[in-house]
Amino acid sequence: MGFKKLFIDGKWTDTGKYLEVKNPYDGSAAGTVCTADRALTEKAIAAAFNARKVMASLTAKQKGDILDKTGSLIAKYSEDFARIITAEAGKGIVFSRGEAGRTAENFRFAADEARRLGGELIPYDASASGANRFGYYKRFPIGVVGAITPFNFPLNLVAHKVGPAIAAGCPIVLKPASSTPLTAVLLTEVLLEAGLPECGINLVVGSGSVVGNAMVESELINMLTFTGSPSVGLGIKAKAGIKKVTLELGSNSAAVIHEDADIAYAVPKCVVGGFANSGQVCISIQRIYIHEKRYDEFRDMFVKSVKASGFGDPADEKILVGPMIEESEAARVESWIKDAAAKGAKVLTGGGRRGTMLEPTVLEDVDETMTVVSEEAFAPLVCLMKYRTLEEAVERVNNSQFGLQAGIFTNDIKNAFYAIEHMEVGGVMVNDMPTFRVDQMPYGGVKLSGTGREGPRFAVEEMTELKTVMFNLN
Ligand code: NAD
Repeated sequence: MGFKKLFIDGKWTDTGKYLEVKNPYDGSAAGTVCTADRALTEKAIAAAFNARKVMASLTAKQKGDILDKTGSLIAKYSEDFARIITAEAGKGIVFSRGEAGRTAENFRFAADEARRLGGELIPYDASASGANRFGYYKRFPIGVVGAITPFNFPLNLVAHKVGPAIAAGCPIVLKPASSTPLTAVLLTEVLLEAGLPECGINLVVGSGSVVGNAMVESELINMLTFTGSPSVGLGIKAKAGIKKVTLELGSNSAAVIHEDADIAYAVPKCVVGGFANSGQVCISIQRIYIHEKRYDEFRDMFVKSVKASGFGDPADEKILVGPMIEESEAARVESWIKDAAAKGAKVLTGGGRRGTMLEPTVLEDVDETMTVVSEEAFAPLVCLMKYRTLEEAVERVNNSQFGLQAGIFTNDIKNAFYAIEHMEVGGVMVNDMPTFRVDQMPYGGVKLSGTGREGPRFAVEEMTELKTVMFNLN
């Protein structure tokens, strides 16, 4: 099998150093890709810096056409993308297909934003000193966008950065996660096939400490858009200097099952929300707060349903839960489960592990003092807890260092509004899992879950600067 080159300074480049990408399910080879060092990363950044004028001068029509065509090509090659995602990320094939479909849509939403990017008239004469003045503000590209992305959605989370950057007129330096670079290589090929100017994207693969750090320290990058773990994100923000930084970080998302909820409706949603992609989703359900009067009913139905969900080879269409990305990650969560059990938690199902395969696990008799509840598991692990009043449930949802999204199942609109008003999160999903996301909605967190919002419209705002214009007609 050949190897994949990096795209640097407008050329596919054999860097002479190679990384073998492994399938996390069975350790088999998923492919080989070149890696960059600090010097090559700096070359890529300098090339992006020199591409600012070309990218800024693309018309709205040109950008919209490139982005629409990218969406169409992703739809055309969706099975190729899905197979690569499953091979390198270990995601169930059905969910990998879903990711490819969403990404095609996501690029079309970015195309819409490219076409509507504009400004607004400023009512200067509302001010005492503004009479006979006319003007507007307009959005301009921020400059070079450095995108650093995680492994768990190797296509769509890259699209959430690349699509808006193109719509905004910014050149991009993209560093995907080292465990999932092959999807990013195919996406770069597709972007070029769709007509993106060759200077518009640079693809660098390598470790966070070398390639990522070179991007963080560069003075030629104007904005870093990062999706990944809170610890890495905080480190990036501390070192980034004057450049703008947006952070999409982790969470231990909660769902509330209120007294009046439709349990049979909520259970399958919570199973998918907790266990799809082995719980390696930033808005995966980790905590479920259940009203005490409905607790036993929910627990019994939920555990039965988790036991019946497919666990195994992600290439099998019946699989909900496959491997975790690395054995060390699965071992970390296994040790948290053992620690919780030693402190009195009951393992209702799962808990066992073989290599990267951590069984889908449900715990009860847990509380917010235990690591399984308070830290981000990013694993197929769900904790069930009882509550008495909605106020208590919302307080416990908020008793977290994170705040990405939360869900509430209720049939009373007053309860829904109480949750909407009082939950400290970036999004409240009523009668759905906190894991719900479509790509055009504003998406991002509060507290340790991050700063800034994604979704093409909102990411384009982050990737542009306002310039204010005034005509003095006096
Ligand atoms: P990670 O933080 O380990 O890695 C993310 C990226 O950062 C990778 O490309 C990595 O190489 C790079 N990196 C690592 N160290 C770096 C450094 N010192 N300087 C610059 N770059 C560096 O995260 P991961 O394990 O790939 O992904 C899991 C995490 O991502 C979870 O915490 C999850 O919640 C979060 N996540 C958040 C969202 C969101 O939208 N909020 C979405 C998906 C994942």
